Amino acid sequence: MDDCIFCKIVRGEIPCFKVYEDRKVFAFEDINPVSKGHTLVIAKRHSQNLWEIEEEDLTSVQLASKKIALAIKKALDPVGIACMQLNGRGVNQMVMHYHLHLIPRSADEPELTLTSWELRKGDMEAIKKIAERIASAI
Ligand code: 5GP
Ligand code: ZN
Repeated sequence: MDDCIFCKIVRGEIPCFKVYEDRKVFAFEDINPVSKGHTLVIAKRHSQNLWEIEEEDLTSVQLASKKIALAIKKALDPVGIACMQLNGRGVNQMVMHYHLHLIPRSADEPELTLTSWELRKGDMEAIKKIAERIASAI
């Protein structure tokens, strides 16, 4: 897509710190890192989100994310890696080109806010009804 920032990065029109590339996938460092080693993994072919991405591209991104996560583990020795992926402006997706965030946390870094939400016991009847609605929509 002509005016997509991540498509421009794939085409080399915007510089980036690349960590991985194959026929279908491209991965580079986030310029506003949440932590050391915050990496974005994208399919080279443009699609906006999980609803749109072709299965083949999604598979390629997931398989590459394992390779890159292993490399992050080897290079940075994090205590964990969070994988996060946003779909839609309502959950603050800012770049409308599907991307998987790999967010490692090193021992000397603070707890990641995105992985430390408060657990509150749910209403089992309400959860059951929601599960039924989702299941019947598949
Ligand atoms: P989203 O909220 O859409 O899941 O996250 C988009 C991410 O892309 C943000 O973490 C933001 O820092 C990153 N980002 C936005 N523009 C650029 C850019 O030009 N280069 C790089 N490397 N990252 C970017
Ligand atoms: Zn794009």
